Amino acid sequence: MTKKERYSFVIDYFKAHNPHAASELQYTNAYQLLVAVILSAQCTDKRVNMVTPPLLEAYPTPNDLKNATVDDIYHYIKSVSYPNNKAKHLKGMATVLVDEFNSIVPEDIDNLQKLPGVGRKTANVIASVIYNKPTMAVDTHVFRVSKRIGLVTNAKTPLETERQLIENISEEFIPVAHHWLILHGRYVCTARNPKCEQCGIDKVCQYFEQKTKQSQTV
Ligand code: SF4
Repeated sequence: MTKKERYSFVIDYFKAHNPHAASELQYTNAYQLLVAVILSAQCTDKRVNMVTPPLLEAYPTPNDLKNATVDDIYHYIKSVSYPNNKAKHLKGMATVLVDEFNSIVPEDIDNLQKLPGVGRKTANVIASVIYNKPTMAVDTHVFRVSKRIGLVTNAKTPLETERQLIENISEEFIPVAHHWLILHGRYVCTARNPKCEQCGIDKVCQYFEQKTKQSQTV
């Protein structure tokens, strides 16, 4: 099977089975998504969705968040992972957003990365989800799943994975493909025990092929 055929099968499968895949984070505007994505680093979306409603009710605009103290913010987010750092990042992000971007979340990846707490992955999520740009955020699920299936070859870093995925997926499907791979990694191709028997793309998956060969030789 060629790489092109593998991509084509995987995209057709997800198009048919999850055409409207979307983020599981709750938000109603770009500012809210930015807050949620910063909080979601090494934390579950479920936990973040419990924390954001009271936080955003207290600080509904970037300016409100800018004027909060780090201790105030900490109080709302203490149940997520790394709350001290994230409280500092949220205040820093809001300050730069207000002072340098007139409270408008930028579209551009480089400008997004000027916001404290926003790395390449978060910037790609915002550019893709809010502005529908063909950017691919590579989190732990996307990194693992792309490798297992064989969508990427010898990619040692998230950036290499991002480049290979962008190169091989047509532009119109890049934003949704990010969600396909995350959701597949979260619910089917899980880190410890991938549910290959429930997986609809097993016939093109390199990991599954190797696993099958190994079990036949023992
Ligand atoms: S066959 Fe197994 S390893 Fe391959 S994508 Fe599906 S769940 Fe993941």
